[in-house]
Amino acid sequence: MSPTAGQVIKCRAAVAWEAGKPLVIEEVEVAPPQANEVRLKILFTALCRTDVHFWEAKGQTPLFPRIFGHEAGGIVESVGEGVTELQPGDHVLPVFTGECGECLHCKSEESNMCDLLRINTDRGTMIIDGKTRFSKNGQPIYHFVGTSTFSEYTVVHTGCVAKINPAAPLDKVCILSCGICTGLGATLNVAKPKKGSSVAIFGLGAVGLAAAEGARLAGAARIIGVDLHSSRFEEAKKFGVSEFVNPKDHEKPVQEVIAEMTDGGVDRSVECTGSIQAMISAFECVHDGWGVAVLVGVPNKDDAFKTHPMNFLNERTLKGTFYGNYKPRTDLPSVVEKYLNKELELEKFITHSVSFSEINKAFDYMLKGQSIRCIIRMEE
Ligand SMILES: [Zn+2]
Ligand SMILES: [Zn+2]
Repeated sequence: MSPTAGQVIKCRAAVAWEAGKPLVIEEVEVAPPQANEVRLKILFTALCRTDVHFWEAKGQTPLFPRIFGHEAGGIVESVGEGVTELQPGDHVLPVFTGECGECLHCKSEESNMCDLLRINTDRGTMIIDGKTRFSKNGQPIYHFVGTSTFSEYTVVHTGCVAKINPAAPLDKVCILSCGICTGLGATLNVAKPKKGSSVAIFGLGAVGLAAAEGARLAGAARIIGVDLHSSRFEEAKKFGVSEFVNPKDHEKPVQEVIAEMTDGGVDRSVECTGSIQAMISAFECVHDGWGVAVLVGVPNKDDAFKTHPMNFLNERTLKGTFYGNYKPRTDLPSVVEKYLNKELELEKFITHSVSFSEINKAFDYMLKGQSIRCIIRMEE
């Protein structure tokens, strides 16, 4: 049992007091975990685009003060009542979406969209009692997607915690909590390209590069990267991207360019941009007879997908995925093993590293488009 179990812990956290304003490192109080919760000591966390999006809070209901952060690696400090599957000392990855194990989705082999613990960006409190576990001088500080990893200690529902091999370096595998698994799983679990096949990846940000990494692992012979920024191609080569198309360089629609390059279309495509036009192109660029397109990017509220139904009758398939179809608790340990046995390469995603006190630099790198992933080290 940990000496701090059952007690309030005072520690440092990066608090967002207002939308778009630099985070402030504060001493906060972290309450003990309640039933079905665990308190984690975070060792490494990383910044994801989604943190930035909700920190900017443009077009959403702002919820402040708030502690962001949802890609992280840590160690269980203490457990709440009734928790048997985790114990102090376990190495874990907190995840923004969960797996209760009881609902129809969790019981289905085909779904990872847990009814109880599915991502909820509007909720700033714990699901069990609707309260926060963070406070400063009595003022509650809101949580973010049930993880709030920009804190030395955080409280998370056990259904949102994946227990992993303690041999795995947390400063590397922490990036599997979100973006990397989203792209990787979109390819490996949903598009499922065969060895020797061709795959088009739309959008070469972190998620798209992870989708390319999945295609590389699957043994794809041709990986075609599509992006509006030609400067991204050089970096993308490290992820197996072998050819590059910038839609701006062509008069005709990019789906036609790709069809010409591939004798009628690619075997698989994965769309990681959120642009509706890219989604349509990603679908229309797959080969008739067998092509499968997978949508990953989050569209705008009013978007509508428009394509001729004949594209479906000609035996093309359109799919979508959430978190690469991975069930956090069940599947993440095996992704970590893929890294440990040197199949999956994670180092190339990590372009920057800063200490916790410099966390705002991680925001700068992302906003300037300089980083794929920036690791934030909690211990200075
Ligand atoms: Zn569930
Ligand atoms: Zn994320």
